[in-house]
Amino acid sequence: MHCNDSFAPHRCVLWGVIPVTVNGPVIYTDLDGTLLDHDTYALGDAGPVLAGLLARGIPVIPCTSKTHAEVVVLCRELGIDGPFVVENGAAIWVPEDWGLTRPRGSASASRYWCQVLGKSRGFIRGLLSGLGDEWANRFHALSDMSLREVQAVTGLDALSSRRAQARHFSETLLWLGSASDRHHFANALSPLGLRVVQGGRFLHVLAGGGKGAALQWLHEKIRQEICPAAISIAAGDANNDLELLEAADRALIVRSPVHEPPVPNRQNHLYTSTGEGPEGWAEGIQKIIDQLDEENRYGRLLPERNYYYAAQSG
Ligand SMILES: [Mg+2]
Repeated sequence: MHCNDSFAPHRCVLWGVIPVTVNGPVIYTDLDGTLLDHDTYALGDAGPVLAGLLARGIPVIPCTSKTHAEVVVLCRELGIDGPFVVENGAAIWVPEDWGLTRPRGSASASRYWCQVLGKSRGFIRGLLSGLGDEWANRFHALSDMSLREVQAVTGLDALSSRRAQARHFSETLLWLGSASDRHHFANALSPLGLRVVQGGRFLHVLAGGGKGAALQWLHEKIRQEICPAAISIAAGDANNDLELLEAADRALIVRSPVHEPPVPNRQNHLYTSTGEGPEGWAEGIQKIIDQLDEENRYGRLLPERNYYYAAQSG
């Protein structure tokens, strides 16, 4: 795959070919309820489209509330070997040989480096424990649950449940109080520098980072170091994807079978799928990629037309 057709980070670096006028799509996608089915976690109808993107060298970057342990396994199963964003944007993992320079101070493990945008789970837990009894009975931390409890809430098997509990940069809570309580809880955490993000099943507490911040950080680095004209495409199904959908050049809202679509604060280059879950992801992403391909073709035609008219007039 050549950079002029798509986005292939390794080849951009190796060949020194920088496409300044041709867009290179980079897809940042939520997983649960978006690329994967909300209930079965299956790829379903998204499989062929995902395979087509990967075959073209278009990066598909998971941007999820899942943990590093979960995403490593998923990426292996999906055939994705590039960067990924975990714990709702608290940390970004990038393969050391992907073509991006490793930032000073970043962690390193298993041939990946990790840029942490948030703070440690221990730090967050310390602040939560200081909230007092008023809130103590209204949530149950995922990391404090027994394996059986995690399995009952998530529907995951034992091994996958352990991976879901392996959080490092955020605290994940099962909310036991009312929706109104939840709102007051978020307000109580704000002065502490903590932020609450509502996921599909859980409430996530972050101390820095976020899906939108992670996209911006990583995409800026991609533009600076690999492909100046890289186009970011975001896909998400829920309110914890709002920042992601607002930060990208193009955005796809994937309809959910269990809740209303999120309402991002943008109008332009915003698509909403007709299908739900992976079916909607496949339909929407294909539509956006087709449109970018069309824009590329049109962009290539313009200089050819100019040369033609110049030759005619000369
Ligand atoms: Mg989701």
